[in-house]
Order: sequence, then structure tokens, then C-alpha cells
Amino acid sequence: MTQTAIDQLQNQQWHSLGAQAVAQQLDSDAEVGLSTAQVRQRQEQYGPNELKGKPPKSPIIRFLLQFHQPLLYILLIAGAVKAFLGEWVSAGVIWGVTVINAIIGFIQESKAESAIAALASSVQTDSTAIRDGQKVQVPSTELVPGDIVVLASGDKVPADLRLLSAKNLQINESALTGESVAVEKSLSPLDADAPLAERTNMAYAGSFVTFGQGRGVVIAIGSITETGKISQLMEERTSLSTPLTRKFDKFSRTLLYIILGVASFTFAVGLGQGQSWVTMFEAAVALAVSAIPEGLPAVVTVTLAIGVSRMARRHAIVRNLPAVETLGSATVICSDKTGTLTENQMTVQRIYAGMQHYDLTGEGYIPEGEILREGNPVNLDESVALRQCLIAGLLCNDSHIEEHQGRWRTIGDPTEGGLISAGRKAGFTQAQLERERPRLDTIPFESEFQYMATLNDGAALDRQSGKRTIYLKGSVEAIVQRCGEMLDPQGQLQPIDPQLISQQVDAMASEGLRVLAFALKPVGGTQHAVEHADIESGLIFIGLQGMIDPPRAEAIAAVEACQGAGIQVKMITGDHAITARAIAQRMGFNKNGEVLAYTGKELTQMDGADFATAVENASVFARVAPEQKLRLVEALQSKGEVVAMTGDGVNDAPALKQADIGIAMGKAGTEVAKEAADMILTDDNFASIEAAVEEGRTVYRNLLKAIAFILPVNGGESMTILISVMLGRILPILSLQVLWLNMINSIAMTLPLAFEPKVDRVMQRPPRNPNTPLLSKNLLKRIVLISLFNWVVIFGMFEWTRRTTGDVDLARTMAIQALVAGRIVYLISISQLGLAIVSNLTGKRKSVKDVRAIFVGIAVAIVSQFLFSQWSLMNQLFSTAPLNLNQWLICAAVGLPMIVVAAIANRFDPPN
Ligand code: ADP
Ligand code: MG
Repeated sequence: MTQTAIDQLQNQQWHSLGAQAVAQQLDSDAEVGLSTAQVRQRQEQYGPNELKGKPPKSPIIRFLLQFHQPLLYILLIAGAVKAFLGEWVSAGVIWGVTVINAIIGFIQESKAESAIAALASSVQTDSTAIRDGQKVQVPSTELVPGDIVVLASGDKVPADLRLLSAKNLQINESALTGESVAVEKSLSPLDADAPLAERTNMAYAGSFVTFGQGRGVVIAIGSITETGKISQLMEERTSLSTPLTRKFDKFSRTLLYIILGVASFTFAVGLGQGQSWVTMFEAAVALAVSAIPEGLPAVVTVTLAIGVSRMARRHAIVRNLPAVETLGSATVICSDKTGTLTENQMTVQRIYAGMQHYDLTGEGYIPEGEILREGNPVNLDESVALRQCLIAGLLCNDSHIEEHQGRWRTIGDPTEGGLISAGRKAGFTQAQLERERPRLDTIPFESEFQYMATLNDGAALDRQSGKRTIYLKGSVEAIVQRCGEMLDPQGQLQPIDPQLISQQVDAMASEGLRVLAFALKPVGGTQHAVEHADIESGLIFIGLQGMIDPPRAEAIAAVEACQGAGIQVKMITGDHAITARAIAQRMGFNKNGEVLAYTGKELTQMDGADFATAVENASVFARVAPEQKLRLVEALQSKGEVVAMTGDGVNDAPALKQADIGIAMGKAGTEVAKEAADMILTDDNFASIEAAVEEGRTVYRNLLKAIAFILPVNGGESMTILISVMLGRILPILSLQVLWLNMINSIAMTLPLAFEPKVDRVMQRPPRNPNTPLLSKNLLKRIVLISLFNWVVIFGMFEWTRRTTGDVDLARTMAIQALVAGRIVYLISISQLGLAIVSNLTGKRKSVKDVRAIFVGIAVAIVSQFLFSQWSLMNQLFSTAPLNLNQWLICAAVGLPMIVVAAIANRFDPPN
């Protein structure tokens, strides 16, 4: 952006000018907006509408931070003491290994961080703008000064705007002003010196529309918006910390103290036994180094990052890393019905109007089909009510349908798309109707009110008193109570019969149809606007349209999978109770009986304890107001459930925040909901929630496997060193060799576990109890058992070789090679490769899943171990000795009995 361009924008006190004047100054037009050419020219002049984030921490700092771990301090100090003793090679290797470790950590962390950040920001924000006289959806980054932006409730204000029109417009500006109550907006010019918080005719970037609608002209974008000016200070950073990594940190700190204690003890005991302090220092360092699982942090980070990208591939974008873990312990999923459990492909199948029934043929949104009465095509002229019912559906409508690549789809609300297609089947088109009876005003649909109203020019009925008509459509409950009269078969007005209508609604709803009611109100020619107060009463009921919205096939399967996995699925919807229940029944929500359903009204009448029990037992909640979702989540949590909750509207945000995992809809969701959520579904599909749970469980499994794999090596090493010191023997393994094992070998062999695919059984187990400790009893037993075996291998191999050959270096090398041989067997045993081998051996044919990573890990381990003992440079650095073929075979043979030990461990602690 050039400075003069910025100055031109900034020197204006936009809030003190009249709306029209602002539009003119910016060479724009409130109705037509900018032209494509103007937009292109301004995009070049002003650049994209985005905030340049704070430059990330410098790579050097981030690299140095890798050393900022208690466990690494020990190593650095150990290296320093070695250097002080003049053991430069050892010091160099210790430092070298820590540096390698830091490099690996740095690379993995940067990769993970940028992948997660990229995912989080891949959910782009769109805005509605008016350009060339047409409403268009554009990415918010492409807005330019002068653009006309249309705001609706749930939108995030994309740039600083001077408002041109506002209807009940309320905006929450807490991010900017700290004021948590939404501000009511107006249009009139204000004093030039009005402070930011009082500029009610402006809408500022980053705030949220909580109610109503409006329009504004863009007066500042990107870094010159008010938020942009301060946001340089508060750039969000992706954090890689999760409850699990925090548990790890705590665990490693405790471990550190224990290690320090034991190491000092060893040191003291050794000195007491008359050993030189240099020998004992080596022993203490070896012990400390051997007990620390240096490779673990890198593995944890990578495993989480892989989980996040796997979820993204399955349409679930994680915004909040801890959600990856929490998902694995979810016990209840509360899901929207419309669009998430169902296809959101609304097709009107029945109409009830003028006390008569009609059936519609045709599929999806395709505007072709017939309207039949008792099997015969109808003559529209004969039914005033039917005509009006269809016309109301077309006029009181903010969406349209279009053919796209051979398929008909709805732009806007699918419910409204269904109505348009129904109207077209009778030969009505929106375009023509709107030309004949232009719309003068609107009350848009909000879940809270459950209706939408328009004011149109022209009379609807013969002998109508006024010249204009208000059309209303919405839920039966919202509409019927406002009506005093209804149309009869002849098109005459009759007193309304709510009972008759309610029977018709129940009949349609019990087939799973979504029922919409229609009404109209004649008004005089002087009426220019429609307010909620205008439609409180005195309406004329026109009829009902019942539309089918088939359940998604994959959602049915997903519901079943969840139930198998011990996760309850609950449907939360604004729709009618009977409709919701019929769909739930069809989707197999409750296999062994009736689905228990409550309406929001019934819930409000319950007190605390009853409420919680009802919420726990029922699986359908219908006509639920968004505010009630929060109570639902809290009640479930009070029963000890871990709750995943979906939402899309503005008012869903509190519930999404309160839920253990808040899930927003990527397509239908408002920006407010997305911002409050931990996870976003890019396809709005329930099946993706189930997929995310699967992946969440798999991540946790893989982490446990990594722990189960790494710790026994530390256990074996430290036991060896401790016992050797106590017995006053030569160390079977040196600190440098331990470092090699714990860092190079561990990382090479453990990383593949992060890539383990999900096991088939993953969704056949109950959810993990979030309170179980990281190291369960069985896992601890496993670690001890394998550690013991490792100890036997190291200690035995060393003592045997030393005795038979008298070569200490060779003995140490062979001990290590035997340990790694056993380790390879152990890796196979806990990976899915092992699972596949066992099941094939036992005759259960099982295809081997993606196990390439395990093979790669094993290959890397073998090659590096080969170099470790056969390469003279390595011999010098790590005091190893080359083995001959026989010795190699001996090492392999000594590792083999691990098969038995691992099999025993797998019995009481199945890894898959
Ligand atoms: P859900 O999406 O779970 O069905 P909503 O809150 O969107 O819940 O809708 C609640 C009710 O409001 C619906 O059952 C329907 O009767 C009515 N409704 C839905 N969409 C519209 C609309 N665009 N215009 C008027 N009424 C609507
Ligand atoms: Mg809806």
C-alpha cells in the first residue's frame, strides 16, 4: 500500500460524515458496489486485506530453546565435566549428540507447527459483497476500500466499515473495546471526536455480528484497520502443548529428580568402595543418561502432528491441539440433525393447503415434477391456498437454485431451495414473481425466532383490503399461534382450527418430513417495513409444506460405529420433535426400542437433577433453542461425560466453548462458531466426527506404544549400570553408547510407531477414561518385564564376551548389538506388523496394513548399528569394536528370545 493511499483513508473522520458522502468519497455506490475493474485496480493499489503477523521467533532462538529441557541440562553439564577432565572426544560426542537431538527436535517442531498453523488458517473467511450490482461471496482477503459488504448475524466483520444500512444490527466489539455486550448500530453521523467505542455507525474488523443485518462500505483494510493497528501486539501462536505433553513434562521433571538422586547415590557408594572419582563420575553420568528417554519428546510431537494431518485428510480440521487427545476419550457426541446427520437435500413431498392434501413428484432440487391431488395433476386455478402456499415459498426466500455441472444445487439455505424447486414444479419462478411483487423489506430467518418474513408489494387475495402483503414462513409452532384465520378449499377465510393443523403436521412429521408453515397478512400501501411487532397476530394461515431430508448413508454407519465404541450419539435440532424422532429411529439411534425425545420446552420445565437424568437418557432434543445447548453440555458433564458438541450459529458459541470438544461446521457454520470451536468439519458431515474420534484414539494408542517401546531400553540400561556399580564391576555400557542408543537408535525405531495406521478394533472399545494415568498398571508391568529382559541381555552378553575374549570394547559392542536385536523383535511385536503376523500364523487371514514405516525403521536401525561397530571412526568415537560374522549371529540369537517375553507382555497388555 502506498503511503498517500493510506493517508487518504486515514485522514478522514468517516463516522462524522453522512453515509452517502462516505460512499461517494470512496467512489462507490451503496446499491451497485464497485465494478470489477475498480476492484482490480484497488487491489493493486492497496494490496490484500490481511494482517501481517508478528514475525515468528527467530530460528536461532527456537533452536536454542530445544536445549531448554531439564533432561538436556544434565547432558550439557556432563559434557562440560568431561571437557574439564580433558576427555575431549567424549565431551564432543555428548555435545554432538545433544546438538543432533536439538536439530531433529527443531525440524520436527517447526514442521508440526507450520502444518498445524497452515491447517488452522486454511479455513478461509468469506464475506458477502456487492459488486457490479450483484451479491457475491468473496474471500475476505480480497476486499478493497470502497467495497460494499453485507453483514448478517454470525458474520465476522471483515474490514473497517462505515455502515450504510442497519436493521436491528448488533455487533460484539469486545476484541477491540473490551466491552462484552454487543453494541446496537445506527447510521447517523457522529461528532468527529467520538471515541472508538461510541462510533455506533461503524463496524470494525474482527468484531462479530450477533444479531440483525446491515451493509457497510469498506473504509480501511488490513493493517490500517483499528484491529490491525493493535493486533501487531497480539498475534496468535500455535502451541504444541496438550494435556498429554504437559503430563510428559511433569513426568520428566520427576524423573529428573529421581535420576539425580540415584546418580549421586551411585557416585557416593562407588567412592565409598574406593573407586576413583573419575570412574564414578562416568558411572553417574552413564546412569543419568541411560535413565532419560531423550528421544521421547520428538516422538510425541511427531505423533500428534501426524494425528492432526490424518484428521485433516478425513475432513476434520483441528484448531486446538489438545482436542486430538480429548477426542479419544469422548463419551457423548451431540450432533445437529439438519445437514450433519442428514443430507440437507430438501425435497418437498407433501403440501397441505386449503384443507387439502397434495403430493409432489421429483427428486432432489431438480425443478421438474408434478403436483398431484389424489393421484391426478392439479389445476392451480382451482386452489387459491395451494397457489399462495407455493408463492409464499418463493417470495419469502433468500436463496436460489442453479444447475451446476449437471446437478441442481441450492445457493443459500437448503430448506429454501426445496421450496423453490416445489414452486417451479407449478410453473412459478422467483424472478417473475419478484418482478411482479417486489420485496420491500425482510426479517431474515434466525433460529431463535424460527420464522422469516418479507413485505411484498401487491395483494395476495381477491378482495384483499390492503395493497401490500407480508409473507411469513417458519416452524408450525411459531406460525400457527399468530394466525386467526385460515383458507378453506374455496379460498374463503375460516376461523383457524389449530387442532386440525396439528394433526396434519404430526402425520407428515412421523414420516420424517420437515414441516414448514406459511402465512400471510394483507397490509396497507403505506407500510414500508416489517418488524417483529407487525406479525405478532392477525395472520392468515395458508398451508404446510413437508420436505424430506434423507439421512446420510455414511452417517448411519458412523452412528453405529460410535455405539460400538461406547459413545452415545445425541441429536440436537431446532426441528420438530416428531420429525427428529422419526429420523433418529431410522438412523438406528436406539436399536432396542423407542427413541426417547424431549423438546426444549419440556426441558425448561425440569429442575436440575431431573434435567440431568433426562439429558443423560434421551437421545433426541428437538426445538432446542441455542441457549439451551449450553445447559445440555453442562448437564452431561455433570454426569461425568466427555462431550463433543456441534454447532453453527452465533448463539452456539458458548456451548461450543463449554464442550470438551466444540465442533463447528465449515460450510454452514458462522465465523463466530468456527472461532469458538476446537475442530472444524470441512464437509459438515457426522461421519467426519466419527473419523476424528477414530484418529484421536489411534494417536493415543500410538503414543502409548512409543512409551512402551522407549522406556524399557532406559530401564534395562539403568538397571545394568546400577547393578554393575553396586557390584563394583566394569560398566557394561558407557555413557556415550547409552546416548547413541537413546537418541539415534530410539528415534529411528520409535518414529515409525507414530505412523501406525488405526487398528480395526479401535472403535470396538469403550472410550478411554481421561483420569487414568499415563502409565497404567499394565503398562508399568510391561515396562518392568521388558526392562528385565534387556538387563539380562546387556549384562549377560557383556560378562560372557568379556570372560571368553577378555576384550572389554568388544564385549560392550556385542551387548549393545544384542540389545538392538531384541529391540527389533520387540518393535515388531508391538506394531501392527506383529499383529498381522500372529493372526496369519493362527490361521486368521489378515491383510497387512500400512507397515512400511516399521520396515524403514528396522532398516535404518540395522544399517546404523552396522556402522556403529564396523566403521573405524565410530569405533574411535564410541569405543566400539568390529564384530565378525559369528559374533553378529550370536548377538541376533541372543535377541531372539524377546519373542517369548514380548508375547507374554502382549497377553496382559495388548498393544493394538
Ligand atoms: P435445524 O437446522 O436443526 O432443523 P433450525 O434452528 O435451523 O434447526 O430451524 C428450526 C426450525 O425453523 C425448522 O424446523 C423450521 O421449521 C424453521 N426454519 C428453518 N429454516 C428456515 C427458514 N429458512 N425460514 C423459515 N423457517 C425456517
Ligand atoms: Mg438449520
